[in-house]
Amino acid sequence: MTTLDDLPIRDDLRGLSPYGAPQLEVPVRLNTNENSYPVPEPVVEAIGKAVAAELRDLNRYPDRDAVALRADLAAYLGHGLTVDQVWAANGSNEIQQQLLQAFGGPGRTALGFTPAYSMHPLLALGTGTGWIPGARGVDFGLTVEDAVAQARAHRPDVVFLCSPNNPTGTALDPAVVSAVLDEVPGMVIVDEAYAEFARPGTVSALAVLPGHPRLVVTRTMSKAFGFAGGRLGYLAADPAVVQAVQLVRLPYHLSALTQAAARAALAHRDALLGTVAAIMEQRDRIVAELRARGHRVADSDANFVLFEVGGDQSAAWRTLLAQGVLVRDVGLPGWLRVTAGTPAETDAFLAAMEKLS
Ligand code: PMP
Repeated sequence: MTTLDDLPIRDDLRGLSPYGAPQLEVPVRLNTNENSYPVPEPVVEAIGKAVAAELRDLNRYPDRDAVALRADLAAYLGHGLTVDQVWAANGSNEIQQQLLQAFGGPGRTALGFTPAYSMHPLLALGTGTGWIPGARGVDFGLTVEDAVAQARAHRPDVVFLCSPNNPTGTALDPAVVSAVLDEVPGMVIVDEAYAEFARPGTVSALAVLPGHPRLVVTRTMSKAFGFAGGRLGYLAADPAVVQAVQLVRLPYHLSALTQAAARAALAHRDALLGTVAAIMEQRDRIVAELRARGHRVADSDANFVLFEVGGDQSAAWRTLLAQGVLVRDVGLPGWLRVTAGTPAETDAFLAAMEKLS
């Protein structure tokens, strides 16, 4: 039988295994930061109608530039953004891949501050961009001084900031974004996949966009909108950045079905985003309860919580799984991450946690 090693695969891909959290059929799945609430019935009907209306025209390619969808996304974001400042793709993963294709690539580097989203280095790998693993401070914070010092030392072509940061959960002070922009000549990408869950008082990097053409803010409908299966991510940036990703995107990358479904979902955003407050409540409940039980817990502006189990986190992960609760081992010694879902899921998680001590 032919194995991967027998193929003339790129040297830098040899011996690697594909990214992916376990997709296990267990009662309580809290490992990929999905929205636990199913799409509400009226929205199911609206998306069904919108998709059905496209079916007869599937002999034609979709709108290559997804203009109507981008206009809807711009209206959702506010901040005076217009269609030429917004771009959409199949998840924010694809958005970030396109950004690295345009601004990274062979001979160029990207800097991230770990622990952060594990796909950033993998997207760098896939696009032949050198990855520089920067560090976060104590309690996983990232100060202006720290970020600027690392940016100055490495002079990267692309900097990834993640706010709220996955897996730690805490949002970033926009002063860090401005300072890094001032320090590096390259692009600064702020991954705001979880922005809608941020605690009051948190400021989005969208506010920093005016006058900063090297800043890109990426967002997704996978989390707050509960639209992970629909695969829709987007960016907001200067129109020149949109022109840059149009050089590398595949023609017709967003299917007519995806565009129609996402537009219908956006039109029903009040219903979809209606779950955000309930999820934030469970998030805050998990933080408070685990702290009361003596765990160290990172502050969370997202729909997940990073908590210390003490000792071997993979053993703790297995103990929780044995009780039907799937959380995420992000490879941080002593820590695990749990998604905030429904009250019943929080009950099950907190009950399972009692078996740890
Ligand atoms: N950014 C961050 C920080 C994430 O956690 C995720 C999802 N795990 C993504 C981006 C990608 O989401 P999607 O491709 O579904 O938009």
